[in-house]
Amino acid sequence: MNIHEYQAKELLKKYNVAVPQGIPALSVEEAGKAAERLGGPVWVVKAQIHAGGRGKGGGVKVVKLVADVKKEAQRMIGMRLVTHQTGPEGQKVRRLYIEQGVDIAKELYLSVLLDRATGRVTFMASTEGGMDIEEVAHKTPEKIIRVSVDPATGMQPFHARKLAFGLGLTGEAIKSAAKFMTSMYKAFTDLDASLVEINPLVLTKGNEIIALDAKMNFDDNALFRHPDVAALRDEDEEDEKERIAKDHELSYVALDGDIGCMVNGAGLAMATMDIIKLYGGRPANFLDVGGGATTERVMAAFKIILSDKNVKGVLVNIFGGIMKCDIIAEGIIAAAKEVKLSVPLVVRLEGTNVDKGKRILAGSGLPIIAADNLGDAAQKVVNATKKAQAA
Ligand code: GDP
Ligand code: MN
Repeated sequence: MNIHEYQAKELLKKYNVAVPQGIPALSVEEAGKAAERLGGPVWVVKAQIHAGGRGKGGGVKVVKLVADVKKEAQRMIGMRLVTHQTGPEGQKVRRLYIEQGVDIAKELYLSVLLDRATGRVTFMASTEGGMDIEEVAHKTPEKIIRVSVDPATGMQPFHARKLAFGLGLTGEAIKSAAKFMTSMYKAFTDLDASLVEINPLVLTKGNEIIALDAKMNFDDNALFRHPDVAALRDEDEEDEKERIAKDHELSYVALDGDIGCMVNGAGLAMATMDIIKLYGGRPANFLDVGGGATTERVMAAFKIILSDKNVKGVLVNIFGGIMKCDIIAEGIIAAAKEVKLSVPLVVRLEGTNVDKGKRILAGSGLPIIAADNLGDAAQKVVNATKKAQAA
């Protein structure tokens, strides 16, 4: 789960991570009041959306008058902010964060994440702050320092020193950075975060280290331990399809192909995507309806798949284990009728009561293409999709 910058800063502040003073605002009036309370002389008006690159898209403005805070707030609230992370349609701005301006000497980069290669909590730091870190990693990998932390010892002073030296810090700034990093590590582990990213991390003209931006991601499987963090979820920021999927406990990931897939079991779903590719097609999504797929779930899954305008054909591949094939067939028919299916649908059923399931599908009057095995199903859906596209 993702949260907004201002929420991440509020959490980090509780752990003594240095952040600028700021106040969230939902209207121009609130933005003006926030600016007065903060007191200037410089303010930063920041659009709050779950995407980075806001600065380049006009979502971060540094101003010197309360009147200008209001002017920028007026411009930003309701705008569709387009950044390299939002896609061309952008993301609607509903919240702002008004912050006290900071005197920047240097912009740096610092993040903590779980490195899957070493299985350890790892710091990544770079002198190339404020930039797209993926690009830095790609073009100048030597400019990224990695320090991983042994879980048996936790964060130690030498970890912080190594990072601070790598960032080229000296004197008081090293102490400030060490405190910052230790606090950041504690926030990361205590809150079951999967990422804390500070970009830019700023060295101020007063030689202090402070987080100018903050991004936090959390491990969904640990959210039950943190109801206060779970409460920060902002559904407005989530992809509509992925939100519906979450509400129905479906595992769904949108992809950029044209064959919608509905499968039970993550392994079977992966295999289905592979075999579609093997026969020259491109899956539009990964979708695991789970072991106990009910009619409602199958219907929700269908709606999600068909709301993707790129989908030109659908493959249902279900193994009836605990769920019987005849029940699944009925679910598919109910769903196909309700959502007025307009693209070819290939169904491959296997398992308990498979013959009964196939008879129900055949007798439904719906233009369902039945398949006998996985290879047959993949070939049929690839062919039907190509035909539908040509027509
Ligand atoms: P992002 O573009 O979504 O990552 O938003 P950031 O919060 O990182 O802000 C983008 C850029 O705005 C930063 O890299 C800074 O250069 C600039 N910026 C943000 N806050 C301040 C501030 O308080 N003072 C100054 N001078 N610049 C700021
Ligand atoms: Mn940033």
